[in-house]
Amino acid sequence: MSTTNNKDMPELPASDRAWALFLDLDGTLVDLVDHPDSIVVDDALRARLETLTALLDGAVAVISGRAIDDLEKHLHLPTLAMSGQHGAEWRNSQGDRQIAGDHQKALEAVRQQVKEQVERDDALYLEDKGASIALHYRHRPEAGDMLKHNLSSMIGEYSDLLELHQGKFVFEIKGQGYDKGVALERFLAIPPFADRCPVFIGDDRTDEDGFRVVNAHQGVAIKVGTGDSLANERLTDPGAVHAWLDQWIMQLQRP
Ligand SMILES: [Mg+2]
Repeated sequence: MSTTNNKDMPELPASDRAWALFLDLDGTLVDLVDHPDSIVVDDALRARLETLTALLDGAVAVISGRAIDDLEKHLHLPTLAMSGQHGAEWRNSQGDRQIAGDHQKALEAVRQQVKEQVERDDALYLEDKGASIALHYRHRPEAGDMLKHNLSSMIGEYSDLLELHQGKFVFEIKGQGYDKGVALERFLAIPPFADRCPVFIGDDRTDEDGFRVVNAHQGVAIKVGTGDSLANERLTDPGAVHAWLDQWIMQLQRP
C-alpha cells in the first residue's frame, strides 16, 4: 500500500489501478482572490498538469464553474479536457466543445434583472459566462441574505429551467440538470477516462456533486479546506494540493 511522506495528507491512489483525475480550479489549484480575473496560474502548476496528463494517458480534466474560454485564458493548455459552468460546457482533449442550450432564453430574461441589481452597488461584480451567470459579493458579505432572496424571486418563474447556487461569496444562476457530478459522469463514459477510477479534488459546495459520483465509483474524493463534505479525504489548501499531486507524480514515474 502506498503512503505519502506527510502523515496529514491523504494516501496516494493505489498504483495497481488506472485512475482519472478531476480537478476544480479556484480554491483548489489556485488561491481564492478578490476578483476572479486575479487568480495566478504559474508555470509550475501548468507543468504539473501537463505531467499528470501524460502519466495518466490523458485522463485529466479541470471541472470548474468558470466558462471554458475563461479557463483557457488562465491555463493556456489547449489539449487539457475541461468542463465549464458546472457541467453546462464541455471540451474533450481533442478540443471538441459542446454547450448546453435549453435554459438560455430564461437566463437572458434573468440576466437583465441581475445586471440592474449590480448597477445599484459598486461592491457587487457580475461574471457573465454565457450559459450561466455569477454574482460575486466578496466586498459586500453582509448582503448575502438579501441577494439570495432577490435572486430566488428573479428565477422563480423559470424554476423548471434555472437554478440558484450559493458558493463562497458568490451566487450562480445556471441551467437545471447540470452539475459537476454530471460533468464527471460524462467524462467517465468516454476515452481516455472510461474504465478508470476517478479522483476528484474540490473545495466548494458545488464540488459535492462531484464527490457523490466519485464515491459511487469507489474513487478518491478530496475536499480542500474545512466544512462538511461527502469527501473522505482532506487537504488544507492549494499548496497542500500541489504537494500531494507532486507526490503522486513521483509515484507514477517510478518504474
Ligand atoms: Mg473551487
